[in-house]
Amino acid sequence: MTDCLFCRMVGGAIKPDIVFENDHILAFNDISPQAPVHVLVIPKIHIATLNDLNDTRLGGEMLEVTASLATQLGIATDGYRTVFNCNTHGGQTVQHLHLHLLGGRQMSWPPG
Ligand code: AMP
Ligand code: ZN
Repeated sequence: MTDCLFCRMVGGAIKPDIVFENDHILAFNDISPQAPVHVLVIPKIHIATLNDLNDTRLGGEMLEVTASLATQLGIATDGYRTVFNCNTHGGQTVQHLHLHLLGGRQMSWPPG
C-alpha cells in the first residue's frame, strides 16, 4: 500500500531508525518519543488495526519480538508499557497495526 506510511517504511521508500527486522516484522524508534525508549513494532504486511489481525502466529511473534527488544534495550527488569491504539477512541493515528513499546521512566495509570 503506497499510501500507507508504515508500508512505505517496509518498502524502503522512507527510512526509519530501525532497531529490529526479520521476514515478518519491522521495529523502529518512534519519531516523537513519549519515553526514553519508544519503539514501534509492526508487521511487514499491511494490517490496518488490531480489529483486522487474524493471524495468531504473527501476533505472537510481534509480542515475542517486543519482549525481546525490551530486554535488549535494558528496560525489561524495571518494566515497560506496551500499547495497541485502535481506531478513534484508542487514539490511533497511523492505520497500520503497530505495538508501542515504552520504557525508561515510570508510567502512570490510568492512561489519558
Ligand atoms: P498511533 O497514534 O498509535 O497511531 O501511533 C503512531 C505513532 O507513529 C506515533 O507515536 C508517531 O509519533 C509515530 N510516527 C509517525 N510518523 C513516524 C515516522 N515517520 N517515523 C517514526 N514514527 C512515526
Ligand atoms: Zn501499511
